[in-house]
Amino acid sequence: MSKKLTKREEDYSKWYNELVVKADLADNSGVRGCMVIKPYGYAIWEKIQAELDRMFKETGHVNAYFPLFIPKSYLSKEAAHVEGFAKECAVVTHYRLKNAEDGNGIIVDPEAKLEEELIVRPTSETIIWDTYKKWIQSYRDLPILVNQWANVVRWEMRTRLFLRTAEFLWQEGHTAHATRKEAVAEAEQMMNIYAEFAENFMAVPVIKGLKTESERFAGAEETYCIEALMQDGKALQAGTSHFLGQNFAKAFDVKFTNKEGGQDYVWATSWGVSTRLMGALIMTHSDDNGLVLPPKLAPIQVVIVPIYKGDEQLETISERVQPLLKELRAKGISVKYDDRDTYKPGWKFNEYELKGVPVRLAVGQRDMENGTYEVARRDTLEKETVSAGNIVSKIESLLEDIQKNIYKKALDYRTSHITKVDSFEEFKGLLETKGGFFAAHWDGTAETEEKIKELTKATIRCIPLDFKEEKGVCMFSGKPSKGRVLFAKAY
Ligand code: AMP
Repeated sequence: MSKKLTKREEDYSKWYNELVVKADLADNSGVRGCMVIKPYGYAIWEKIQAELDRMFKETGHVNAYFPLFIPKSYLSKEAAHVEGFAKECAVVTHYRLKNAEDGNGIIVDPEAKLEEELIVRPTSETIIWDTYKKWIQSYRDLPILVNQWANVVRWEMRTRLFLRTAEFLWQEGHTAHATRKEAVAEAEQMMNIYAEFAENFMAVPVIKGLKTESERFAGAEETYCIEALMQDGKALQAGTSHFLGQNFAKAFDVKFTNKEGGQDYVWATSWGVSTRLMGALIMTHSDDNGLVLPPKLAPIQVVIVPIYKGDEQLETISERVQPLLKELRAKGISVKYDDRDTYKPGWKFNEYELKGVPVRLAVGQRDMENGTYEVARRDTLEKETVSAGNIVSKIESLLEDIQKNIYKKALDYRTSHITKVDSFEEFKGLLETKGGFFAAHWDGTAETEEKIKELTKATIRCIPLDFKEEKGVCMFSGKPSKGRVLFAKAY
């Protein structure tokens, strides 16, 4: 398979699909809409998990695990929730197969029908709140701050590797609180943690905001979100945090005795990010040569490629490289020395470029004589010669610099792609030619929102958290508006 990629400006979506496969991140599988995450892709996901998990634990959360299956009756207990998820549920109806009577293959045994059908979890609020009923009696049992790392299934019709798959990996936090105020604070805190993670680790700038009623999570009173902007001008919902009010407590009858001795329903939040973050990472930074990874999440931060003729030269290079490997590893930098003689240096250069390794060192005969390394950075593709004595500090500063530089590049792109518009005609035009976010007045109704979506495929991504009151008229209906919200076409 050729490692060359389609150019982004030729066909962005083809470029993305090819990159995911050729950089060894993931593959399509024999199951519709479900992907195989390959070791290199999974290594990035593990880094994402490790960092988020650390942040969750620092803020008092603990991990637990709940069943994959949800009895159908549980899912139906919260009306809005079942309504929202019903259309994309995988349902288990039987528990056994048997040989077909005509001897042709294997069939579902009609006698092994489940008494109650089971839903493969699309999200776990219902099974978790059924459990919380047993855990919560008094205010002393609160708060509960639980997270689970799991897989979920939503029968998506239009799927794309990482961005939208039928089965995806995620974390889902489910918390229970004594007061509305505390639950709202928790939902906001988690949105802030997601934003901090996206910006500081993924180098992806995000806009924090609130979803409109029609884009809200099914069963939530308020959905907080972080929205990112991809290089093709489309937005991506990168994470959500829901204030669930007392909806699930009422559906599952979870009450507690408050400090005054009265009975109250418990307040809830839930929040999640998924393997979609991998898609955000890829689409924000990568270029026509392949992946560009932020050093903080790159499985290999530095690769060293020897350039040699014959075993003797390789041996002297290896001798020089060994102490450097040791020193870098002692500093917590992940480094790979690729001395395989089954591939040529040029092939290796392309491979690590495709895989987005932030820093590449090459050592040839001339470097051996001069006491130098050739250093290349993946983000700008710049090369320079650095003396061996300075190489460690050079690598350290490069890793920091790349992390900052790709964030800045993404932020500059986003800044230049937030456009104020006041007329629907202008909006429609720029949506096609420029893309990005559009700050526009909206009359606050679901009807207008729906009409705009029908006509342009653009949706309200969020009501930004820094929403400013500004008198105006809705760009579509001409009715009064309180301020600007952000529209975009989205993945
Ligand atoms: P939700 O439970 O709908 O609020 O989604 C939680 C998180 O999962 C959000 O960050 C979504 O962007 C992400 N997500 C939702 N559906 C999918 C999907 N089909 N594939 C990957 N990620 C998803």
